[in-house]
Formats: sequence, C-alpha cells, structure tokens
Amino acid sequence: MSEKLVYYFGNGEAEGSGDQRDLLGGKGANLAEMSRIGLPVPPGFTITTRACVAYLQNPVITDELREQVAAALSRVEQVMGKKYADPDDPLLFSCRSGARISMPGMMDTVLNIGLNDETVQGLIARSGSERFGYDCYRRLVQMYGNVVMGVDGEHFENAIDDLKAKRGVKTDAELTADDLKELIETFKGIVAEQAGQPFPTDPHEQLWGGIEAVFRSWNTERAVTYRRINRLPDDMGTAVNVQTMVFGNMGERSATGVAFTRDPSTGENVFYGEFLVNAQGEDVVAGIRTPQALNREGRDRLPDGNPSKNLPTLEEVMPEAYAELERIRHVLEEHYHNMQDIEFTIQDGKLWMLQTRNGKRTGRAAVRIAVEMFGEGLMTREQALLSVEPDHLDQLLHDQVDPAAQVSMLARGLPASPGAAQGEIVLSAEDAVAAAQAGRKVLLVRRETSPEDIDGMHHAEGILTARGGMTSHAAVVARGMGKPCVAGCGDLVVDYTAGTVTVGDRVLKAGDPLTIDGTQGLVIDGLVPLISPSLDDPNLRQVMAWADEVRTLGVRTNADTPHDAAQAREFGAAGIGLCRTEHMFFGDERISKMREMILAEDEAGRRKALAKILPLQQADFEGIFTAMDGFPVTVRLLDPPLHEFLPAPDMTAEIDALAEELGVTREHLLQRIESLHEMNPMLGHRGCRLGLTYPEIYETQVEAIIRAALAVQARGVDVHPEIMIPLVGTVRELAVLREKTEATARRVMAEVGAEVAYKVGTMIEIPRAALLADQIARVADFFSFGTNDLTQMTFGYSRDDAGVFLPDYVKNGILPADPFQQLDQEGVGQLVAMAARKGREANPDLHLGICGEHGGDPSSIDFCHRTGLDYVSCSPFRVPIARLAAAHAAIRNG
Ligand code: ADP
Ligand code: MG
Ligand code: MG
Repeated sequence: MSEKLVYYFGNGEAEGSGDQRDLLGGKGANLAEMSRIGLPVPPGFTITTRACVAYLQNPVITDELREQVAAALSRVEQVMGKKYADPDDPLLFSCRSGARISMPGMMDTVLNIGLNDETVQGLIARSGSERFGYDCYRRLVQMYGNVVMGVDGEHFENAIDDLKAKRGVKTDAELTADDLKELIETFKGIVAEQAGQPFPTDPHEQLWGGIEAVFRSWNTERAVTYRRINRLPDDMGTAVNVQTMVFGNMGERSATGVAFTRDPSTGENVFYGEFLVNAQGEDVVAGIRTPQALNREGRDRLPDGNPSKNLPTLEEVMPEAYAELERIRHVLEEHYHNMQDIEFTIQDGKLWMLQTRNGKRTGRAAVRIAVEMFGEGLMTREQALLSVEPDHLDQLLHDQVDPAAQVSMLARGLPASPGAAQGEIVLSAEDAVAAAQAGRKVLLVRRETSPEDIDGMHHAEGILTARGGMTSHAAVVARGMGKPCVAGCGDLVVDYTAGTVTVGDRVLKAGDPLTIDGTQGLVIDGLVPLISPSLDDPNLRQVMAWADEVRTLGVRTNADTPHDAAQAREFGAAGIGLCRTEHMFFGDERISKMREMILAEDEAGRRKALAKILPLQQADFEGIFTAMDGFPVTVRLLDPPLHEFLPAPDMTAEIDALAEELGVTREHLLQRIESLHEMNPMLGHRGCRLGLTYPEIYETQVEAIIRAALAVQARGVDVHPEIMIPLVGTVRELAVLREKTEATARRVMAEVGAEVAYKVGTMIEIPRAALLADQIARVADFFSFGTNDLTQMTFGYSRDDAGVFLPDYVKNGILPADPFQQLDQEGVGQLVAMAARKGREANPDLHLGICGEHGGDPSSIDFCHRTGLDYVSCSPFRVPIARLAAAHAAIRNG
C-alpha cells in the first residue's frame, strides 16, 4: 500500500489529529484537532512532513502525491459545494507552511491562490464587490510574486505608494476598484521583469508552485540559521497546509484578528487580542492600520494615548461573532489544557478558526497561568509544571527590559546569557574594574573576551562582544556569573585605540550609556527602563514547590565561596556538588605562600609553606560549611597543574620581583618554572597525580577540611563534608589517597578530641575510570561525573582549542550540538551510564552526581534522571532551572 501523504480536515472531521505534530506540523495537527472537536475550520488538507523530506531528496512531485492531493481537493470541493478555480464561483486556497515546531524564517503564507483574470470575475459576481475581488487578486500577485517567485517586496510597496501619490490618497482603503485593477497589471509587470517569468495564471500551476515553494523553504538560509541557533534537527521537514480561503476583507461585516486566551505578558485571565474590520490575515500584524481591541476589558487596560483606545471593540461591532469567539476560547483552554494563541477570520458575520497553538508568554505570565489554570481545574499539577519552561525561569531570575518601553535598537547579537544590563561603555577589563570601584555601572564591550578579562567581567553589569558564539569565553563565563551577555554581535566595530564602538553610522564612545538584552540578544541605545526579577513572586514559589514535590533528582550547586553558597541556597540548592579549592591558593597573600611551597627544595620546606596556608583554607571551609548548614558539601582537592601558580617565563618583571620576594636567584626561579613546563598540562601533572607525588598538599587540604568541620560542628552547624579526589584513572590512585585521607582525618580528630562524619569519593572524568568503575566504587563513597573533562577526553577535544572547529562542526551538522554544553548522550553518556551501573553493582551505597557544566542543561538533566543519578550540580543561577528541569524529567519519563 502506498504511504498516506495527504490528510483531509474540515467540516467536523479530520484524518489527522493533534498528536501528529511530527507528521502534520504544529499548524496542521491543530487544524485537524480543531475540526475534530467541532470548531469552525475552513476545510483543507495537510501534506505531510515526510512528503517534504522526500521532495527535498528528490525534487519531483510524484504521481502518488499528485493523486492524493487531487483526491483531498475534490473532497474539499464536495464539502464546500464549489470547484477550485471555477470561473463562476471559485473556491480559493491559502498555502501555509508549518513544521513540528513553529519556526519563524520558514515560508510566508500565500493567500487567494486560484485567482486569475477569469476567476476574479466569478469572485466579484458572487460577492457583489468589485473592489473586494480586485483586492484579493492584487494580494495574490504580490504575495505569490514575493514568496514563491522571490521578487523583493519593496517593488510592490513602491508601486502602491506611487499610485497613492498619483491619486492624492493616504491609505490603501481609499484606492478604488479601478485603482486596484491597474495595480494588478503593474504588479504582473514587476513580476515578469524581476523574476524573468510571468505570473502563472493557471490555478493548478499556482497551487503546485505554492506547495513546492513551501517544501523548498525548509532549506532557506533563514530557516537553516534559525534551526542552528535553536538546536533543531535539519531532517524534520515542514508540512504544507492547503486551506479554503475565508475572507475577512469582504466588507464591514467581515474582519480578521489574533488573540491569546489569556494576557501573554501578565498571565491575567482576560481574553486579549486585536482585530481589523474588512481586512485579510496578515494586515493585523503588518501595522498598516491601527488594530482594535477585542473587548472592553482589554481596551481599558491599554495605556492612555494608545491609538486603539478610542476605537470600538469586536464585542461592540460584532457582538454575535464575539460571543462565539469567547465560547471557543473556553473550549480551547479546556481541550488543550493550556493558554492558546489563535487566529480567526469573520466572513460576513460568520466566525472561522484558522490557527491555534500554545501561546508564547513571558516568565511572569507562565507561572501565573500555570498556577491559575491549575486552580481552575484546567491543568493538572504536571501539566502546570510542563507549561513553564526553563527559559521562563531564566527571565524571572534576571532583569528584563520593560516591554512597554520605547527602545531604539542598535544591533542584534546572540542571546548568550539572559537578562538585561545597562551602564556606561568601557572597552577594557581594567577600566571596568576602575569604574566599578568608583561606584559607576559599566557594560564591558570587547571584540571578544579572554581569561584576563574575568575581573573586568565580574565588575561589569553585563558583557557585549563583537565576535564569538554561544560557547565563546564571554558567553560561558557570563552564564556562570549569572551576568547578561550578548555575544557575536557582528555589526559592532570595536576600536580600542580610538575608544569607540561603531554600529553602522552611529559612533559610540567609552562612557556613553548603553543597554543590552541578553535574553533576546539586543543592543539598545541609552538607558531604558528595566523590570527587576521577581523571585518572591508567589506564583513562582508555587511552581517551584510543585517541582520539588515531583522531582526525584537532587539539585546541588557548584560554589567556591560562602557568598555563592548562600546565593544558591536561596535558589533552592540542597548542598554543594563541587567546591573547587584552587582559588583558595590564589588570593593575594596566599599565592606567594603557594609559590614558596612550589619552589621549596624538599618536603620540609613545602610543609612549612603549606602550614601558613592551612588556617586560611580552614577559614574558607568554615564559611562554606556554615552557609550550607544541614547539607552535604563536596570539596574537590587541588586539581590544576602547579605551573598555573607561577608567572610565565616571559613575564620578566614579575619573575624578578618574585625572586627577590622569595630570596632566590632569578636563574633558580626560571629553572623551576622551566622544569614545571609541560607539553600538555591538561593531561599532565595535575589532580590526584599531584596528590600522590606531593602528598603534603592534599594532607594540608584534608586537615583544613576536617578542622573546619569540627570547628563549625562545635558551634552547632550540621556539617556533611565529602572529600573528592580528582582525575582518578586507576583504583590504586584512589585507594592510596583514601588511606592517606583517613589517616590525616584520624590524626586531626585525635588532636582536637572530637569526631565528625565525612565521605571520600572521586570524580569520574577519565574514560578509564568509567570503564573500571566497579573496582573504583569499592573504595569510593560517591562518584561525581566531571563531564567537562570526561567529554574532553572521550572526544579527544581540548576544551581550550575546540572553539576553533566546534562551531563549524555544529553548523555543518557533524555534531548535533556543542558537547560541552549539551551532554553527548550517545557517546559520553554511555560511559556515565556504564559507570553508574557498574559502580552501584559493586557498592550499593554509592552516591552518584554530576558536576560538569551539563548539570544545568535541561536535556542533560533529563539524561541524568533516566540514568538514575542521585543529583545534579550546577552554578547558583541555574539551580531553579535545574529543579524545574528535574521535575520535567520525572514527569516525562513517568
Ligand atoms: P503565519 O505562520 O505566518 O501566521 P499563517 O499560515 O498562519 O502564517 O497565515 C498568515 C495569515 O493568513 C494569518 O493571519 C492567517 O490567519 C491567514 N490565513 C491563512 N490561511 C487562511 C485562509 N484559508 N483564509 C483566511 N485567512 C487565512
Ligand atoms: Mg499563523
Ligand atoms: Mg576535571
């Protein structure tokens, strides 16, 4: 049997249904669903996404498709009692694209297909309006010429403007039937000239032209770019919806509009929408005329001075159609269990539904709608949770540009880290630090950032870069800091010498005010009003409380300071999954002691230096343990190679100063630096390798941890230290270090005369450790998957160097996504799953977590849930998102 490629809908029936989004696209599936539940939908048919995929592989219209379209078309003709392109009474169609996921950048819709010089006469005769008939026809030539034949829309716009000027009129509405008739001829001339081909007058040629154009639009540059940015697969294809035309431009009893079943910006339960009398579909959004409010409730809410405020509402001008629409609003919410975004058209007093889908909404609206629709019995707790997306929380947790504000947009870049930020422009990290310390708010604008800029980024309100992608240094660091960032804004020319930022012909200077919107990737002139995050929004609290009830995964945070720990706790983190200790060696007074330790001739010298660091680290741990009172804290012992603590060999001035400070010769210092040099430090003397060759380093750290734990415990803090050994690849490494750790802990407890419970575990970040997880689990209390290093080592991609080719890989579809952002489930994920299974088999009490960047990524969190991990750990600002994503994972996976 041949494959079904065409699905009929209309007249209270449909061959497809709402759950066939993959096959029929979102628009097609919902047109089918609305027909099924008896809503008034103009009849039509949907050509499947599979037909599109087949066409893109081999661009011919098969007989099979041709026959199925012909059959569906004649079913529509039967239902409508009209014939397609009948010169006496023509049935006309629209041709609409619609992928599984709504995708701007896909082909625009073509309306009024089937009109030509003869059929337009039928339309005129039946409607009794010449003006209406010619208006439809000129729209067809214009849209078809533009969308299908690729003629720049400006040519048509100019022709309309010219004619209006010639007639001395201001609006399209003032053009007469004869004017429109003239315009049609002008438009046809434009098409022939610009496209090199005449506008097709054969209705069937028009229809197939439209269908093929929709197929091809899947691969337009706009669409491809959109999919790449949003990490959507390239192989879904789009469906094509061919639908009977209904006319909102048939006179004063006709109209067209769009609506949300609730206010999409506040979430308030009011029916919210706009419409235009005597207009066709796209006019409402095109902004040619001032749209009118749907009802009095909505109109009253408009700000003073809004032009729609003085216009009559649909409720007033077409009360019956409005009442029907209001009824359908409730039917849709009850049926879809979600707020809907709808399109409708009223033809001569009769209401028709043209589209419905779950409405896009702000973060604030999302939590309100979830809580209220649950309260009204329209959503279950699970549906309410699923209706709130991780991005919504991102919005609620950061400043946003006030949507009501008038803004002047300068440029657009990548939405690299959410939230809005503003301040005066600074072009270097040093300037950022200086200005911020002087109490001024700054935006750091760079061509790109590098690790030297960290301090400046830290002091800036937000970061804007001209180069780099979503995984650029600026983007990754800004997300970690919870700071807004717009990256890769190619329209910016940053001139450090001149101290200017140029966008087109606009030249901004250092010190000029600027705003960025990292949620949308916008660069906005000057300082515009912002809305603060609403963490104590009661609706948000309710949604988070549900998330915590539903999820089974624990959520911890990656935090290295008491401040970050406290912040994360407020966001709902139940413990620290990764406390890195390297910064504890880096502070001003500490680094010199660390260097003293590294340069010491023997163990005794090293111990002497370490003894000075110990109390400082102990104080750090006490702060962190206290901030995490009642929750576990996983402390990772020193991980990076030692050379990171010394100046580079070419930093002459620093080296001289250091030599003097330490009382050694410059040659000696240089020699030591040389000797620590490694070809590939990532794979060199670091992590537990360091702990085994310089045991006194880990011994000092363990002593500081245990002393801190005992000290805070004595003050009544409920402390749960977990000591984590990094970079283990063989069981002996962990076994030896565990013994040493326990010996140190015993010694310290005996000295202090008190006991504290603690755990010892390891990171699983080397593939060999994953392979031999059963052995390692026998000497570990817990595993924490260090998926940054594990990804690096499994792929053999250096994280520091992959930036050169990874964007290309993703762009060209060699990789579906950046594996450092989204866990590579099929590859690296196998190692995680295997290690989890083997580990638990060998040690049933083994506790499992993840602490790589992936711990805050929703798709990776879903994987962690399915793999049976106990918790995920992520940066403080991702914690609420991780809690929600964990709840989603629990719901989706049953
Ligand atoms: P988009 O995805 O850009 O909204 P649509 O396919 O939904 O594109 O159509 C664009 C406009 O044309 C919408 O206002 C829609 O309601 C209107 N429209 C589409 N098909 C028809 C039709 N058969 N009759 C009347 N209006 C239509
Ligand atoms: Mg639409
Ligand atoms: Mg690591």
